[in-house]
Amino acid sequence: MTHTITSLCLRDGGCVTVCPVECIVPGQPISEWPWFYIDPDTCIDCGACVPECPFEAIYPEDEVPTAYTAKGGERLSAPVGTEGFTEPYDGQDHEGNPVHLDATRILQAGEVIDLTPATPENARFFSEGPGYSALG
Ligand code: SF4
Ligand code: SF4
Repeated sequence: MTHTITSLCLRDGGCVTVCPVECIVPGQPISEWPWFYIDPDTCIDCGACVPECPFEAIYPEDEVPTAYTAKGGERLSAPVGTEGFTEPYDGQDHEGNPVHLDATRILQAGEVIDLTPATPENARFFSEGPGYSALG
């Protein structure tokens, strides 16, 4: 099994610093791969990354919510051009470096979201996307 980073990721990067097997990598280019991604073949399911994420974006693969109920105000990010993702985001990562995302969407309180599309997207990053070449 592996852990999965969902579309709640806003590239804080804190998870990378605690992963004992260094299997979390930032997507590039951000316009196509806006999240950080976990290599499913290397992740040892230790769970250390979960409490590091300020956006509660990381789940064990088999616990990614099919019906996540929004508190209100959190954001989903998506590849540029995704329908409905029209809000740019400007924030900071855990080291204080600027983070800019062109395509996010702010959730309303009580909105229910299926976060499971992140699981095949994470796998695709490592099978077809830049994650393949990044990890060789
Ligand atoms: S800590 Fe959370 S927001 Fe930051 S890169 Fe990791 S999953 Fe994304
Ligand atoms: S669960 Fe552990 S091994 Fe897997 S990505 Fe998170 S910190 Fe790394």
